[in-house]
Amino acid sequence: MLSSDKFREECGVIAIYAHPEAEKLAYLGLHALQHRGQESAGIVTSDGMTLRPHKAMGLVADIFTEEVLSQLHGTLAIGHTRYSTAGDSALLNAQPILVQSNKGRVALAHNGNLVNAPDIRARLETQGSIFQTNSDTEVIVHLIALSKEHTLPEAMADALRRVEGAFSLVMISPDRIFAARDPRGFRPLAMGRVPRQEGQKQDTIVFASETCAFDLIGAMYEREVKPGELVVVGPEGITSRFYAPAAPQSSCIFEHVYFSRPDSLVFGRAVQESREELGRQLAREAPAEADIVVPVPDSGVTAAMGYASESGIPFRFGLIRNHYIGRTFIEPRQTVRDFGVKLKLNPVRSLLEGKRVVLIDDSIVRGTTSRKIVRMIRNAGAREVHMRISCPPTISPCFYGVDTPSKRELIAANKSVEEIRDFIGADSLAYLSLQGLKKACEDGAQTSYCTACYTGSYPTNWVDVEDIQPAAVRDNL
Ligand code: AMP
Repeated sequence: MLSSDKFREECGVIAIYAHPEAEKLAYLGLHALQHRGQESAGIVTSDGMTLRPHKAMGLVADIFTEEVLSQLHGTLAIGHTRYSTAGDSALLNAQPILVQSNKGRVALAHNGNLVNAPDIRARLETQGSIFQTNSDTEVIVHLIALSKEHTLPEAMADALRRVEGAFSLVMISPDRIFAARDPRGFRPLAMGRVPRQEGQKQDTIVFASETCAFDLIGAMYEREVKPGELVVVGPEGITSRFYAPAAPQSSCIFEHVYFSRPDSLVFGRAVQESREELGRQLAREAPAEADIVVPVPDSGVTAAMGYASESGIPFRFGLIRNHYIGRTFIEPRQTVRDFGVKLKLNPVRSLLEGKRVVLIDDSIVRGTTSRKIVRMIRNAGAREVHMRISCPPTISPCFYGVDTPSKRELIAANKSVEEIRDFIGADSLAYLSLQGLKKACEDGAQTSYCTACYTGSYPTNWVDVEDIQPAAVRDNL
């Protein structure tokens, strides 16, 4: 069940408390978080009384027109952008999930993956709960409704104690915003503030998966929501509680390697710094005799800059990326070799011809992209291609919110580095060491990372929580 595609997602979340145009701030924040999920997006707002939702499949800028936003007008808002590889990618699973519960009307948006969601769901279903989506997030909503606690913050804390896995989530009730992180702090969640403007009684409090969302809405970064912390912002001000005892921290190192934007702070550390250092470290560990360093854009760019500066080999944009690929395109009837990758990337022949190239990417997953790119660079005239990867071989799937294929499909789980080199057709191939990766992302030893995708050693058990008590309220969901 754990390897089910249904429960594998990548997402971004945003929340706004007390702003006259909360819906617009949520929209802009989601736009900045678009890279965290391109399949569907949603916003739920409140004017203090009524929750108003809108969600749809597609990109943020296409979903939220002026007209849609005008109907969402409110002073509080949460938003979500979602990507799921799943068969079940329907609108039904788009977030936020809005429900009428016995604790009032709430909507919830979640980034991460609950590893015991299937078990909890099965148990609740045998007890009569009816689920409306395939999303693990809905489990939290049911647990909130089933909680014997009477207030929403207590019920939420109770629910969060029962789920296991990765969650950075935001929730909205008519007059409050809630933000919480799992006790291990897998996914990032930052808190910020937009200073009040004339006519506003108070500062606006915001939460987002990455601080690049703050930059667009003029918010200042204040701090991370801490692992195991639940922050509630409401008429009483900002309150914080730790709903669970601290667990060994295991923040996702892949946020620094690939997932987050370089202009963001995640887990309190600048992604740009980590990523450049990954490249520098890679150059120290795996030097190459070459004429130019070429990144696979965009994911390899920052590490390639680090590699170039450390090695002294000139950095060149030898591959150009087309950023305007829609979801559907018309393929010529006569198959063009590597059509898919050519839609996205094209080599710069004048730069590559006759050159020995160090090609930098952040990761090899199945190996199919690297194989096509190496062939493309050779066809453009490169003399040698030395592939360098700014993280260790990916040998195990992620169960904490990053989309990865099953172990069977992960090339490094099944082939040696030499076999992979041969498969992708490079002259040489080297990965960054685990030690080098950790060193590059270290931040005065403040953050300790989950590296399960490189080690196969997972920080959570698959066991489920103790009894989930059914309560009479469940029919209200
Ligand atoms: P592959 O062809 O399967 O080896 O894919 C490798 C490419 O996928 C690299 O260029 C990575 O930047 C990118 N990549 C790695 N992990 C992910 C992910 N979780 N989601 C989307 N793309 C990814």
